[in-house]
Amino acid sequence: MIKSAIFTIGTEITDGQITDRNSQWMSERLTHYGAEVVLHASLPDDPKQIVDFLNTNCPPFDIVIVSGGLGPTSDDITRYAVTEHLGLALILDEASWLSIENKLKAKSVILREGHRMQAMIPKGSKALDNSVGIAPGIHITHNSQQYFLLPGPPAELQAIWNDSIELYFKSLNIQNNKKLMTWQCQGIAESELAHLTESFFRDYSFIIKTGYRINKPKVEVKIWYNEAPETKKVFQDYEKLIKKYNI
Ligand code: ATP
Ligand code: MG
Repeated sequence: MIKSAIFTIGTEITDGQITDRNSQWMSERLTHYGAEVVLHASLPDDPKQIVDFLNTNCPPFDIVIVSGGLGPTSDDITRYAVTEHLGLALILDEASWLSIENKLKAKSVILREGHRMQAMIPKGSKALDNSVGIAPGIHITHNSQQYFLLPGPPAELQAIWNDSIELYFKSLNIQNNKKLMTWQCQGIAESELAHLTESFFRDYSFIIKTGYRINKPKVEVKIWYNEAPETKKVFQDYEKLIKKYNI
C-alpha cells in the first residue's frame, strides 16, 4: 500500500481567513490512483513549527505533498523548511529562472530577489513547470520517499498536477484491490441501516469496512471490499434486503 500525506501551509488557513480546498482536491485524485491518503494537516507560516512537524510526521509516508508558501515574499517559507527537514542544499534551477524572468518581464514586474528564490530548488530535485503562475512546483526523491511541493493558489496547483503529477501517478500503476460500493437509502434511521448492513455482511471476509453518511433526507451506505468470486451475488442479496429503502 502506498501511504501519502498532504500538508497545507499558510496562516491564512489556520486562522480561518480561507478554507483549504487543495487537500480535498488532491486526496480525491490520489485515492483514484490507489494511493491511500492517511493524513491531512494545515500549518501556519512558522518555519520552526513546519520543520519540527515534518521531522516528526514524514517518516512513515511514501508520498508527502506540501501546498502553499512557494511565493516570493518573506512569509513564503516552504522551500526552506522542506530543504532543512531533508538536509539538502538549495541550488538555482537555470531553466526555472529563465522562465520566471520571461513571465515577469512580460507582465512588466520588476525582478526582485524573492523572484530569484522561486527558482531555487533542493539539489537533485526536479522543477515542475507552472503554466498559469510563476513558481514552479518541485519533485524531490529522497531515499524511497517522494515529496511534491506545490504553490497554494488552486489554479496553479491544479495546472502543475495535471501537467506533471498525474503522469507520475499513472506511471506508478499502483495495484490497489480495495474497492468501494455505495447505496443511497431513505426512510430508515442510520443506526437501523447500520445494524441491518453489519448483520448481513458479518461473515464475509472480503469486506474491509463499512461506513455511513447522513445526507438528509438520505443515508449513504459505503462498503470497502476486496474483489472476490462471490462479491456480485452477495451484493445482489444485500440489495434485496434493503430494497424498501434503496433509492
Ligand atoms: P503566491 O505566490 O500566490 O504567494 P504561494 O505558493 O506562496 O503562492 P500561498 O501564499 O500559500 O501560496 O497562498 C496564496 C493564495 O493561494 C492564498 O491567499 C489563497 O488564496 C490560495 N491558497 C493557498 N493555499 C490554499 C489552500 N490550501 N486552499 C485554497 N486556497 C489556497
Ligand atoms: Mg505566498
